[in-house]
Amino acid sequence: MQKINIQNSFVQEIKLSLLSEQRINLFIKRDDLIHPFVSGNKWRKLHHNIALCLSSSCRGVVTFGGAYSNHVLACAAACNLYNIESIAYIRGDELSTSSNKLLMKCADLGMKLIFVARPVYDDMKKMDEIMTIGGDSFLCVPEGGANRLGIKGCVEIMSETENDYDFVALSQGTTTTSLGVLFALKSSSRLVVFPSLKGFGALNEMEKLSLETNYFNEWQENRNRVIVQDEFHFGGYGKVTNNLISFIAEFEEQTNVPLDTTYTGKAMFGLLQYLKKNEIRDKKVLFIHTGGTQKLD
Ligand SMILES: *Cc1c(COP(=O)(O)O)cnc(C)c1O
Repeated sequence: MQKINIQNSFVQEIKLSLLSEQRINLFIKRDDLIHPFVSGNKWRKLHHNIALCLSSSCRGVVTFGGAYSNHVLACAAACNLYNIESIAYIRGDELSTSSNKLLMKCADLGMKLIFVARPVYDDMKKMDEIMTIGGDSFLCVPEGGANRLGIKGCVEIMSETENDYDFVALSQGTTTTSLGVLFALKSSSRLVVFPSLKGFGALNEMEKLSLETNYFNEWQENRNRVIVQDEFHFGGYGKVTNNLISFIAEFEEQTNVPLDTTYTGKAMFGLLQYLKKNEIRDKKVLFIHTGGTQKLD
């Protein structure tokens, strides 16, 4: 398998009639192309953690996630590439390695999967940076890669772009990526976030994570540049509608850019609505493609 190469991620301009009518230049940062399984923001969030693991006496990485976690898959694939052990605690003790293709792929990549009941999982995931298993130290990476090193990796995304956009838009889960991108933006740019969870208090969650990761000053300086668009969850996290499916298919047909149904499809739908509804004109916009389009068949 090839090593991970961030140069696979380029900035591409997208042509759509809505955009030309409103004289908007929309660019996409193709982080989905970084690697087939360590895709998008997941590599951004992991790579400083992997480097720390390699330079320390840790034997491997321990992480946490749900049955469909892109983060757990990325972690399994990255650890496999760098020859370090990986262990994941998966939420739900009714599950097993054969429950779905993502979990099977993780096991194939050498990850040890431990299935735990939800209340136990919720306690476990709040752990220290280092965990001792069988006498060896393991580096703990939280759910979704949401730690200080994860944010640090996401700060780096903007340096690979012109970083002179009026708006930068992206999907949001743990808010790790959005915080990193926000801290890197030119002062004239605004960040438009599309939470994938229904009823998600985006600004509160961003503040909370910035406090936990020691980025609170950066948050205070930049918080007023965040625009939250929380009406584009399509019924909730992981929910899919026919409307969303046809939007994603049409978008791919017109642009050749695949989107996923959990994050980027919803965020791109929301971004186009936002630009239209607010009659935004003559602006330069960047969408960060955070990945999620891996093929597991
Ligand atoms: C994990 C994920 C996100 C959410 O990123 P956060 O840093 O947790 O906010 C967005 N898009 C895709 C495709 C993802 O896999």
